[in-house]
Amino acid sequence: MDRPVAVVTGASSGIGAATARALAGAGFQVVLGARRLQLCQEIADEIGGTAISLDVLDPDSVAAFAAVVPAARVLVNNAGGAKGFEPVMAADEDQWRWMWEVNVLGTLRVTKAFMPKLIDSGDGVVVTVTSIAALEIYDNGAGYTSAKHAQSAMHRTLRAEHLGQPVRFVEIAPGLVETEFSLVRFGGDNEKADHVYAGLTPLTAEDVADVIAFAATRPAHVDLDLIVVKPRDQYSAMRTFRRS
Ligand code: NAP
Repeated sequence: MDRPVAVVTGASSGIGAATARALAGAGFQVVLGARRLQLCQEIADEIGGTAISLDVLDPDSVAAFAAVVPAARVLVNNAGGAKGFEPVMAADEDQWRWMWEVNVLGTLRVTKAFMPKLIDSGDGVVVTVTSIAALEIYDNGAGYTSAKHAQSAMHRTLRAEHLGQPVRFVEIAPGLVETEFSLVRFGGDNEKADHVYAGLTPLTAEDVADVIAFAATRPAHVDLDLIVVKPRDQYSAMRTFRRS
């Protein structure tokens, strides 16, 4: 009953699901939020957590989600993703709108809803999962890289705006992680999604979750501002080593 509460958005799959498990292993009572409630519920049952329906695109859903979580010490802003892979001149505005909405405004909404509770805990931690796409750009990726740059800018601004308050801000910027990410990006096309990871050893969701759990469990005066985590086979977004 006395375990500190960690809230993980996008906890139904990939990095979020692995993070929920890792934080439970580190002693947190985990609240899992995503649209696919059943998947969250299965993980919650496994780790003794709580699953609550959450659509970060819907302000009412975010408000209802936050309303049933009375206290929180850690918030992991993980819900997000990419849609499409086209040059800017062929940009699909609906896909761009979705990427900006889920990665940027979704993070904004959830962070606003939980900040008072994180501060009240006396040692709050906001972990935001951005990407190396927040640090560099790549061809055909501007919808996603621009959204991740904006998400990162907001997160770093929050860090500065809360100096002196009992809350830490950790940005996690992963490179290639094999999750449902590419399946979502390519509209369910398995072949295109598999191609992203072909010939190299990508990170697993658990690799990233380990780093998040480590950052969230440092002493209260230690803020791991930015952690970039990439596969050994990846130098940058556009430069990887692939075995034939
Ligand atoms: P994933 O397996 O596709 O997970 C994405 C998660 O976001 C899912 O749990 C999904 O849950 C949730 N989500 C999507 N829209 C949502 C919404 N409107 N409301 C609430 N939750 C929503 O991909 P992942 O790789 O674990 O992605 C997690 C984060 O890591 C994302 O922010 C992504 O941009 C970032 N990232 C991924 C990689 C990579 O290579 N995989 C690299 C760098 C950064 P529901 O569909 O159930 O709602």
